[in-house]
Amino acid sequence: MYCPNCESATLSEKEIITGLLVKECSRCHGQWISSSKYEVYLNRRDERSEKLMYNEFSHENGDSLKGKICPDCGHILVKFKVGHGIDFYLDHCLRCNGIWMDANEFKVLYSHGLHDELNKVFTTQWQKKVRKDAHQAAMELVYREKFGAKYEILKDLREWMQQQKNRSIVIAYLND
Ligand SMILES: [Zn+2]
Ligand SMILES: [Zn+2]
Repeated sequence: MYCPNCESATLSEKEIITGLLVKECSRCHGQWISSSKYEVYLNRRDERSEKLMYNEFSHENGDSLKGKICPDCGHILVKFKVGHGIDFYLDHCLRCNGIWMDANEFKVLYSHGLHDELNKVFTTQWQKKVRKDAHQAAMELVYREKFGAKYEILKDLREWMQQQKNRSIVIAYLND
């Protein structure tokens, strides 16, 4: 089984948390979670106490943005932004449900309590929230640039306005 990132390097099995066997690349340290192994892990999770057996890799690859092929079934992997405070993408196979994580990403997912809910990231509901948050952050930048130092005041005013029953009076006052 070849690494979907390096293509030539091979993957070998490794237990990264009690009961979860992944395939890890010896070169880029990316990790592949096959759907069947993840299922086994999720089903037996309650029977034991978990221990993270994961060393941080010193070299930083960052998020590899190139297109990848599923090492299990050969399908093209699709990128899903994790969002919700995490800024990298996971590569996911929509045919066999496998997941590719670049080096060190599992540890971040674990620290956010997402390691046993990875499939959530690929749901429409989750992705909707990711897009909404990204849109909000982009708008925040626009407003900040437009209003400068007054932005904080305007933000407070806006919040206060939203609680007012009779907003038209406030608007009339502002326009006067
Ligand atoms: Zn690799
Ligand atoms: Zn696949």
